[in-house]
Amino acid sequence: MAQLVTDLAVEKATLTTNGRRISVGDFELTMFSDGNYWLDGGPLFGIIPKALWLKKVACDEKNRVVLGENSLLIRGGKQTVLIETGIGNKFDERVRKVYEPEARLRDNLAAGGVAPDSIDIVINTHLHFDHCGWNTVLKDGRAVPTFPRATYYAPEGEWQHGQKQYLRDRVSYISDNYNPLIQNGQMQLVKQDREIIPGVSVRTIPGHTRYMQVVTIESQGRKACYVSDLIPTAAHLDLLWLMAYDLFPMEAIDNKKRFYDEAIPGRWLVIFTHDPAIPWGYVKEMERGKYGVEPVTGS
Ligand SMILES: [Zn+2]
Repeated sequence: MAQLVTDLAVEKATLTTNGRRISVGDFELTMFSDGNYWLDGGPLFGIIPKALWLKKVACDEKNRVVLGENSLLIRGGKQTVLIETGIGNKFDERVRKVYEPEARLRDNLAAGGVAPDSIDIVINTHLHFDHCGWNTVLKDGRAVPTFPRATYYAPEGEWQHGQKQYLRDRVSYISDNYNPLIQNGQMQLVKQDREIIPGVSVRTIPGHTRYMQVVTIESQGRKACYVSDLIPTAAHLDLLWLMAYDLFPMEAIDNKKRFYDEAIPGRWLVIFTHDPAIPWGYVKEMERGKYGVEPVTGS
């Protein structure tokens, strides 16, 4: 992986998870990428020294690391589900220069033959702007739903936190991404763990935020989990490799361990939101406390 990822900073333009496909029982999962964006490697790896994270990922001259934006389309049930809507295109020029987001989700869905009105359900694991950016688009200066027929789901505690606009993380919560959907009745706020459609459930795992939910997909004895920012990339598998953005690091460590206690023996397909090259794989404990991912071939 080190070699592969070292090339990324240079070859960012050609790097994409878009269009990768895999089956989990009766469900067909397709990755639709919102393209890549850049984030400073310091906060991305929290307390991990740069000398260590540089062995796994490359950075550019501004210390930035390239990240992916992997949205997941689930077909095969009665309803079509989209998990996460990327970073979107509502940023002003100043913010755009910081992250250089490609914001390709809408184009990639269209190129894949997925019309906005074919999405029945959108799930946001949490409401940071890089997870719900394409929930809405601006039309005549107003944020309107990108997916006109969809019911959107997001954790209620996330929404309450975002509304409070805490100094610590208010930049992450942009109300245009969700408040218009609550006002028009399209977004349901989820109070607890629950099934969204048969086989697709949300489950609260505190750590990154208090109320972030992962999404589990289960069919025919097989299981996949969209882990969101519990493990944003395959470089964050080791227990202490957290982001400085994580609000509750001690809980994140415990909950990552608990997750592995289920996912590794159960051979769950683990789906990474922000890995620009590895959309999914099977997590393995290589040696005590050291984890790696077995990539899925042919997808
Ligand atoms: Zn986040």
